[in-house]
Amino acid sequence: MKQPNILFIMADDHAAHAISAYGSRVNRTPNLDRIAEGGMRFDNCFCTNSICTPSRAVILSGTHSHVNGVTTLATPMDNRLQTFPKLLQQAGYETAVFGKWHLGEGPEHCPTGFDDWAVLPGHGYYFNSDFIFKGPNGGTQRPVPGYITDVITDLSLDWLKRRDRRKPFCLLTHHKAPHRQWLTDEAHAGLYLGETLREPDNLQDDYRHRAFAAEAAAMRVGVYMNQGDLQAEINRSLPESELRSWAYQRYLKAYLRVVAGIDDNVGRLLNALDAAGLAEDTVVIYTSDQGFFLGDHGWFDKRFMYEESLRMPFLLRYPREVAPGSVNRDMVANVDFAPFFTDLAGLPPTAGFQGRSFRPMLGGHTPADWRQTLYYRYWMNRGDHNVAAHYGIRTLKHKLIYYYYDGLGLPGTTWGEFPEACKLEGRAPEWELFDLEKDPREMNNVANDPAYAAIRRELTGELHRLQAELGDRPF
Ligand code: CA
Repeated sequence: MKQPNILFIMADDHAAHAISAYGSRVNRTPNLDRIAEGGMRFDNCFCTNSICTPSRAVILSGTHSHVNGVTTLATPMDNRLQTFPKLLQQAGYETAVFGKWHLGEGPEHCPTGFDDWAVLPGHGYYFNSDFIFKGPNGGTQRPVPGYITDVITDLSLDWLKRRDRRKPFCLLTHHKAPHRQWLTDEAHAGLYLGETLREPDNLQDDYRHRAFAAEAAAMRVGVYMNQGDLQAEINRSLPESELRSWAYQRYLKAYLRVVAGIDDNVGRLLNALDAAGLAEDTVVIYTSDQGFFLGDHGWFDKRFMYEESLRMPFLLRYPREVAPGSVNRDMVANVDFAPFFTDLAGLPPTAGFQGRSFRPMLGGHTPADWRQTLYYRYWMNRGDHNVAAHYGIRTLKHKLIYYYYDGLGLPGTTWGEFPEACKLEGRAPEWELFDLEKDPREMNNVANDPAYAAIRRELTGELHRLQAELGDRPF
């Protein structure tokens, strides 16, 4: 069978609930919706470690963080690891990546397995950012004028024109947006002015009935946001609830303006595929390295195993195998992407991959032995946002989380005013259990509810079974 082209568009920190195809109540994304309307929306796609660098390593390597070694933001990826771009290149693909890399810098961390690349040093900047272009000794760095989302799209479009047309292509377009600082371009600066965006029902979460980790997190919209000039404008005499509502509007409008820039640019890529007659033969994917809290639980950022951060948007269009407007609800994960891509390329399953190809689902066929539980582990104790390290499992109905309050710690929070009472180290471990059918917003931990004792026992056994199967160890 002919090998399809692959266009993998990945945003940074774009939550599924800021995409209208996923039922967003705050914005419209007509071009992202084009992918869903022409293909399949995955409703239960999750990451195995909700933080940028680790998720990117999982996607490339098809292995969990404890296997690929990229557990935290402080652990760059060894570029000798086996990755799907290397395998596709060996299978005859022409491969390229443009945009955010964020897997370390220098010759031992630069992209490998790509015929061409230009990536941002670190996070890059929204305007006139430097890029590192493919070259000897880790490449050469120079600035490229323009707005980052436009520039990354331009680099991708330019490569599509000059690629080797005798080969199928695999193009990774990795946006910086909508990662903070959420700086908009001029074209979208007027969006949402004078409007009041709808607040999530748990914006004013007080973190009762949850583990201590929730209260301790320095992720509350308002005082803990390092969003451009927001800190300077905060009225600290306001009660926290008013401050949170005010900052939410500021935060989400900035975030959604940046998302609108992505949506336009995805439209440019889709139009280019149409114009080149490539739409039928190209698997187009839109995803993000993890989800994000959009005021849910009163938070911004990610890290937690709670739904908004765990869930990745995953929209896929491939007319040869996917009926327009289809929806899949199986639990797939970022660890499955690499096996999926190599399957698309016609390669046999690769030894060492821990994920599994979900290609059968494109035609509506779920293998009878598809996973019923998903393993998650967030390794960074403390860090900038004072989030406790934790691991757990999710099933279609429940979620079990274990906070061990110790272990690998990054330097503590940078928020000088963060209270000493929120110290994570040395506390007794805590469990959380959520009934996702009765409590989809995860407001009520039932780990100690006698009515859930049998479920908790069963899920704890499954957590340890899965942990052993994947080669991770309990803390
Ligand atoms: Ca990210």
